[in-house]
Order: sequence, then C-alpha cells, then structure tokens
Amino acid sequence: MPNTLHPQLIEWPARGQKPVKLQVSNSALAGLHRGHPWLYAERIKTQSHAGCPGDLAVVFDSKRRFVAVGLYDPCSPIRMRALRIGKPGPIDRAFFAERIAQALERRLPLLHTDTDGYRMIHGESDGLPGLVIDRYATTAVVKLYTHAWLPHLGDCLDCLLEQQPLERIVLRLSRGLQQHPEELHGLADGQIIYGVPLTAPLTCRENGLIFEVDPIHGQKTGFFLDQRDNRAQVEQLAKGKRVLNAFSYSGGFSLAAARGGAREVTSLDQSGPALETARRNFALNAAVPAIAAARHLTIEDDAFKAMAELVKQGRHYELVIIDPPAFAVRRSQIKEALSAYGRLAHLGVSLLAPGGDIVLASCSSPVTPEDFRHTMCAAAARAGRPLMHINETGHALDHPLDFTESRYLKCLFAQA
Ligand code: SAH
Repeated sequence: MPNTLHPQLIEWPARGQKPVKLQVSNSALAGLHRGHPWLYAERIKTQSHAGCPGDLAVVFDSKRRFVAVGLYDPCSPIRMRALRIGKPGPIDRAFFAERIAQALERRLPLLHTDTDGYRMIHGESDGLPGLVIDRYATTAVVKLYTHAWLPHLGDCLDCLLEQQPLERIVLRLSRGLQQHPEELHGLADGQIIYGVPLTAPLTCRENGLIFEVDPIHGQKTGFFLDQRDNRAQVEQLAKGKRVLNAFSYSGGFSLAAARGGAREVTSLDQSGPALETARRNFALNAAVPAIAAARHLTIEDDAFKAMAELVKQGRHYELVIIDPPAFAVRRSQIKEALSAYGRLAHLGVSLLAPGGDIVLASCSSPVTPEDFRHTMCAAAARAGRPLMHINETGHALDHPLDFTESRYLKCLFAQA
C-alpha cells in the first residue's frame, strides 16, 4: 500500500533502560497479591529513582522478593499498572503477543454472529491495563488511559497486526492524557498511526446490522460496543411495538428494535449529528424488510425535557429504552447520579403503555448494581407503576469482568 504508515515508523518515546524499583505499603502488596493491577502513588514507600512514563517498575516486598512488574506513569495517581504479578518475566514482544492472542481467542465466538465491531482488548481484564483496542471491520481504534503505553505501543501494535490484519489504526487519548501534552511527543487524539487515511464513512456489523462509526470524532471509540447483547434482547421484545429510545446516539437500540418488528421507533438525543447518523443507519439497513417497514422518528432535544413534554402530551410507548451517559465518574457524584436516574425512570414508566417493557441502563461505574436497581424500582413505584419481572444484564463477552473497576455497565429489563 503506498503512503502506508507503520507503527514502527512513528517516533514513539524511548523506553527507559533502568527499571524503577519500588517498595510499597502492606495494603498495596496485598492488593497486588490478590491480582489487582493498580498501584496508587501514595502507597509507594521507597523508589530507586524518578522514572519516565512507560519505564518498567518492579515492586519488591520487605524481603526483596519479586511481587510485580508493570508500567510506570508519573503523570497519573495510578503510578504503576502491573503486567506480571507473582512471577517475574520479560515485558517484550513475546509477552504482548501472548496477551493479545489470549484476548483474541476469547472473542472467537463473536465471529460466528456476523459481528466485526467488538472490543479486542479490554484493558485490565485482558491483562493489558490502561489499553483498550476496539475493532470496526478492518479499522482498529486504540484508546490509551496512560502515557505509559507510548514507548511500548510500536511493539504491541506490531504484534496485533501479525495476528489481526488491519487496514488502519486510529489513536484515541483519554482526557487524562490530553492534560499532559508535553508527554505526548506530538501524538494527537484521532491520529491515524497505521495504514491509510479514512476516505469514506467507516461501517461495522453487529449481529448482521450495519452501523456507521466515526472513530476519529465519535464518542468513546465511535460506537457503544458494550450494549450489543442488550440490543439483541431489545430486538426480541420489539415486535409490533411503538418504541422510544432515549439517549439513542447513532440508533443502536433503534435498529435492533426495528429489525425485531417494531412498528414505530423514536430516537431521542440532544446531539444532531448522532441523530443524522441514526437516520443514515436506518438507510444502510433498508434491505432488511422489517427495518424498511418501521417508521423512524427523531427528536433532537434534552431527554429530560423532551420526555416530560411527551408525558404532558399523553404519549405512550409499548417499549421504552433509556441509556444515558455516565452521570457519575467519582464517588462524590453518586447521589446526584441516582437522583437523575430516578427522574428518568419516573419519566420512562409514565410514558409506558400498561404492561409495556422498559429498559434502563447505567454506565456510571461508582453506582453499584444494587443502588441502581433500588433507585429505579423506588422511582417507578412512586410513579404508581412498580417494576415487575426484572431481569438484570451486564457486559458482553468482549468486555470481560476480571477486574472489579471494569464492572460499570448495568441494565435492567422490566415490565410496568
Ligand atoms: N444508547 C446508545 C448510547 C448512548 S450514549 C447506543 O446504544 O449506542 C449517550 C448519549 O446520550 C449520547 O449520544 C449523548 O449525545 C446523549 N446525551 C447526553 N446527555 C443528553 C441529554 N441531556 N439529553 C439527550 N441526550 C443526551
């Protein structure tokens, strides 16, 4: 391919030569021994020297025995993310290749479902903390949560490309990284770091449905892959129904409902571009008779305001889906988040035809599944429409849950 960039041609920051040696508090040792890969800065008792982002850091116990080796990041309160715990070993291409192979093998069942949009690497849960890689057909999107990956990314992506042929790789940087531009070595959010530029809209398939994805400007890495299984469930519930999909983004749940035989689907989002994509996604899937037959409406507005308005107008839907953005990222925001979820549940059941189905999702990681369920049930009961036949779901197989902090998604299916 002419003008093809390769990860090895990018000027990544150099790898440090000398590992940083750390001694840490007993509670941090216990955490690492339990397999938790994060080491917070305040848990470090002694440190051999000041390290740079991406230097290897080795933790020893008081008897100088090896505990863990990982990636050091002086810019983050999570000062080290452990890659190997308990047993020493090199952090090199063979190591990355093995972790990637394991992760890809976990996802093999997806390939039988006409799905080429999925998470290939889910950070901590796939043994590569701070690194997320999503695949959209032949494009991969790498999202970094620590600068520490930068010196290792050339090797890591080389290993990925050996196992997974790709046309291009897009780099996305979490907000934390963008706060330290001096550590980015000229790399930018949305930069193509391998392969050819995108010249046409990118699409991927999810259970046979086609979705347009914007990996460069889109939210997350371009699509909300974590809702795949819940969308499949919505498809099973939708036959003959009038559906409201609040916080629809590009219409993931709307398309699933339409293919399931919904007679009318309303996508509600405050983002005009997201709704335009939702409309294009309906057009892209028009070969599916049920989708061509479903009436698709859009409302561009604040969901709280628009739903209150629909209640006032006396509108009713037989299926209501509410999948808002994270209302809490810190523990201090939990109370406010629960109050917002409660308001949405109240509005949702108020818009529900008697005996209708409601789907309520939360991606706020500090909110526990118990608190979320309790708040949703209480709010629905207050509206005089208690939730019944509740079913809770979580993450799909490409978002494994081996790591507690990655347990962010909660989704309730209920009738009211
Ligand atoms: N359900 C979607 C993902 C939702 S992401 C899917 O399956 O793909 C959250 C969406 O909420 C985003 O599209 C964002 O634009 C929208 N949003 C955020 N705050 C909003 C608000 N107050 N009112 C309406 N939409 C909002």
